[in-house]
Amino acid sequence: MEKILFLAHTDSNGQLPKVALETLNAALQIKQGLAGSTLTIGLVGENVQAAADQIASCGMEKALGVSGADFGMSRYATDVKAAAALGTASGATIIIAPATSRFSRALPGAAFRLKATIDTHVSGIQFTEGVLQIQRWYYRQRMMATLTRVARPWIIAIDSGVFPPWQGTKGSAKVEAVSVAVADQEKRTKMTGIEAPSADAQTIRPEAQILLVAGAGWTKKQTDGQIHAKEAEKHILDFLKLAKASLGSSKSLVDQGSEGEAVLTCMSHLNQVGQTGSTPRHPKGLSTCCHGEEPHVVGWRFINERRAINTDASCGWAQGKADVLYVADAFAVMSKVNELLAKG
Ligand SMILES: Cc1cc2nc3c(=O)[nH]c(=O)nc-3n(C[C@H](O)[C@H](O)[C@H](O)COP(=O)(O)OP(=O)(O)OC[C@H]3O[C@@H](n4cnc5c(N)ncnc54)[C@H](O)[C@@H]3O)c2cc1C
Repeated sequence: MEKILFLAHTDSNGQLPKVALETLNAALQIKQGLAGSTLTIGLVGENVQAAADQIASCGMEKALGVSGADFGMSRYATDVKAAAALGTASGATIIIAPATSRFSRALPGAAFRLKATIDTHVSGIQFTEGVLQIQRWYYRQRMMATLTRVARPWIIAIDSGVFPPWQGTKGSAKVEAVSVAVADQEKRTKMTGIEAPSADAQTIRPEAQILLVAGAGWTKKQTDGQIHAKEAEKHILDFLKLAKASLGSSKSLVDQGSEGEAVLTCMSHLNQVGQTGSTPRHPKGLSTCCHGEEPHVVGWRFINERRAINTDASCGWAQGKADVLYVADAFAVMSKVNELLAKG
């Protein structure tokens, strides 16, 4: 019989972040799949009552909380202690937690203290003959492994966007406090605030329905022998605004600044998608002026519907990598698309 612990931390509003609600669904599926198992909730935050109430009706056996001013902020020293204390207090054999940036830093340390084994970036679960198996990608999303572990405790950190968020009614949960002593030297790190670009300047939007990827073609000489970087930037930014899209890039385009070529000022290396870039998750993706080479396309692993615009009918996207390839001039297509989007 497995003792499952759903471990989560609150956000700045004292609620559970979306990825935690997604992970709760994973924990419930695991509970259902492993007959006779129990589910305990373990929460970390300045005040965890509101978060516990938020998920009171999920079917938990027990709720534990590590709370207080020391646990409101993301800090390795206190987070690792809180997670380990909840792991111990619950006697958990399987710990399911969201792979937030806060927990991704602290959970490996908690695993060490709990003498647990840990799998991070888990992107799927399944049961084979009653045995829990997880899925995880390796080698920059080129190989997917399905694996299980006999070692316990087993910590499983679930990536965002894999499970639908848990949706249930609020209630009133009884939270058992787990006390954790924190020494002054463990509180030396302080989070003083968040620096984020304004909403308009923020081009990376993980929740967007569509990802627009811009390739180096936008800054290459066009049929008139000229470069039209300003016009390219306008088409891209207009589309982002009108379609509320997220912006991705090929490596070639974001590298150009350092190579002294024409650049799009809305791009940075953070936008790069691919083997050495990111692997975003969006229902749809539109690639523009990008060749669709394999090191770039591996970053499209979690884009469900893929379309591309390229003047070259034999570009990489035509080799089975896109659902639809428009062999056309992206300047002309995006100008028309934006015109239609603006009309509503
Ligand atoms: C180890 C390694 C890791 C790498 N990692 C990454 C990675 O993480 N991400 C990544 O992106 N790349 C990566 N690369 C580089 C990758 O192989 C490609 O070089 C890169 O993706 C090419 O970028 P691009 O398609 O934008 O540019 P190009 O290859 O220059 O393609 C530009 C495209 O624009 C098209 N075009 C031009 N004008 C127009 C127009 N008006 N309308 C429509 N289409 C037009 C052209 O036909 C062309 O296909 C990696 C390479 C290596 C070796």
